[in-house]
Amino acid sequence: MAIHKDTMLSVVAPCYNEEEVIGEFIIRTVEVLEENFHNYELLLVDDGSKDSTVEKIAEFQRKNSNIRLIRFSRNFGKEAAVTAGLEHSNGEVVVMLDCDLQDPPSLIPSLVKKLDDGYDIVSAQHTMRRKETWIKKSTSKLFYRLAAHMTGLTIPDTVGDYRVMRRKVVDAVTSVKDNVRYMKMIYAYVGFRNATVLYEREPRFAGYTKYNYPRLIQAALDAIISFSDKPLRYISLMSLGVSAFALLLTIYVIAYKILMGNTAAIANGWTSLVVLINMLFCLLFAFLAVISEYISRILRESKNRPLYFAEEIRGGRTEYPSILTQK
Ligand code: UDP
Ligand code: MG
Repeated sequence: MAIHKDTMLSVVAPCYNEEEVIGEFIIRTVEVLEENFHNYELLLVDDGSKDSTVEKIAEFQRKNSNIRLIRFSRNFGKEAAVTAGLEHSNGEVVVMLDCDLQDPPSLIPSLVKKLDDGYDIVSAQHTMRRKETWIKKSTSKLFYRLAAHMTGLTIPDTVGDYRVMRRKVVDAVTSVKDNVRYMKMIYAYVGFRNATVLYEREPRFAGYTKYNYPRLIQAALDAIISFSDKPLRYISLMSLGVSAFALLLTIYVIAYKILMGNTAAIANGWTSLVVLINMLFCLLFAFLAVISEYISRILRESKNRPLYFAEEIRGGRTEYPSILTQK
């Protein structure tokens, strides 16, 4: 279906402790939307901010009824916030972007326009990563390669969360109810016709990044583990190899003793014994670590708890003062 000025457009942005940037974000986004679309909603999901983000959003809501707010009861993480935004969006076309202005709102019209070339989901692909250390660049490259190998789903390392999609893609994405969630992987998993638009990623307008290394590692593990059992299969194959090696070594040592009748030669080899024990224990603990990562995620999935609690939904057609999790 062709997109025109009257097509209902939803813009979803997760916000967590963004008081320094949220005002500027709303001003710039609304300006672009007013100019290009007659029917829009700006859906801001507050992920349990402890600063004045919610109050700042409320100020803008008094002036513009197209701004909606979903306020979480606490911090549930960006993936939950994005999911809530998608679940509550009404648009025929939905845009996702961060609210720190690293994803320039001025790009929205060209992303939407690209859908008209016969695509269902258009991602913004940045040309270079400014202000990022080489360690971050190379670890992120490594992660995307590893993820592609393990899951068979390819996501380019220069594509972030900034994208626009048609309603059918939104419905497909929200029908994936995984509790262990990594949205970029889910977008790749649901398929549909994909395209990218190049842009230059801005530095954060103000405020600070919420993603430190432990959080990034956690997200990387979520991404791979929720879409691949290859690590488990690798360790089971490796276990076979290690067991075969240990068995052969045992046969060799026993045969040596029987044939040569000389235990001293074996006793002399205690250095190799220490090395061997260390090596086997290292492997064993590494295998246990992989299994533990899977078990902890199986636990999270099996409880099947709601992904988030929305304490309040303000603006739009309906207002919900009570706790709710679904549309
Ligand atoms: N965010 C969120 N919940 C969180 C962490 C981040 O909603 O627990 C939002 C944040 O407000 C921003 C986006 O997710 O709009 C990206 O976060 P950030 O800019 O800190 O990540 P980076 O761009 O540094 O990877
Ligand atoms: Mg950012």
